[in-house]
Amino acid sequence: MEPMIQVDHLVKRYGEVEAVRDISFAVQKGEIVGFLGPNGAGKSTTMRMLTGYLPLTSGSVRIAGHDVQREPREVKKRIGYMPEVPPLYLDMTVGSFLLFVARIKGVPARERRARVEQVMHQCSIADMEKRSIGKLSKGYRQRVGLAQALINDPDVLILDEPTAGLDPQQIIEIRNLVKSLAGNHTIILSTHILPEVAMTCDRAVIINRGRIVADETIAALAAGRSLEEVFIQLTMQPAAA
Ligand code: ADP
Repeated sequence: MEPMIQVDHLVKRYGEVEAVRDISFAVQKGEIVGFLGPNGAGKSTTMRMLTGYLPLTSGSVRIAGHDVQREPREVKKRIGYMPEVPPLYLDMTVGSFLLFVARIKGVPARERRARVEQVMHQCSIADMEKRSIGKLSKGYRQRVGLAQALINDPDVLILDEPTAGLDPQQIIEIRNLVKSLAGNHTIILSTHILPEVAMTCDRAVIINRGRIVADETIAALAAGRSLEEVFIQLTMQPAAA
């Protein structure tokens, strides 16, 4: 079966800066993959190309068999994306915001209410339905960010640094929430925190200076084959400016 995410020889240049340099990897249906690397490694750039929001310089990305460049609409239907800073309207209530997102993502009118109920339940924010997003804690806002990514019941979830800026308790809650979504969804999440990948993911794809330096299951990493090696490699080489 074709992988849910297939990345081949992906390259992104911003003028002189080669942010992503010929990376290839695949993610199978139902897997949770951690995209790990220091700041500036090229994680966000890759995530944005996977979603079809950022044009590729070269190479290809296929989501559920659909080419991101040739079939962007097919791809957008199948993905939920949570950028590093989720696009939230602070004046809106949680419920009205999610209904709004359902509409712009093309959820049919008769299904919207039920989808909003379901994602609020999944993300444990049903109690917050009538609250303004601006009055929520950062942890709850992050849950709303996840809820909006889930609203179209996507095959693939792309989460850019989902725990950035949260306190330790909130981090645990978001990690558990992400884990609970596995199985029904294929998930790729970026992080610069090694233990985060070990705790949440099945596999780590490690990127440094735009290149993949390791692609290992967590079981293999935990067996000690390359955990320290890779970690030292990453921490000894500061990210390119
Ligand atoms: P990460 O998400 O791993 O922190 P990014 O993908 O944000 O890394 O950045 C990778 C590299 O690309 C960095 O060197 C960054 O400065 C550069 N970069 C990112 N976005 C732009 C942009 N819009 N214009 C120019 N350079 C960029």
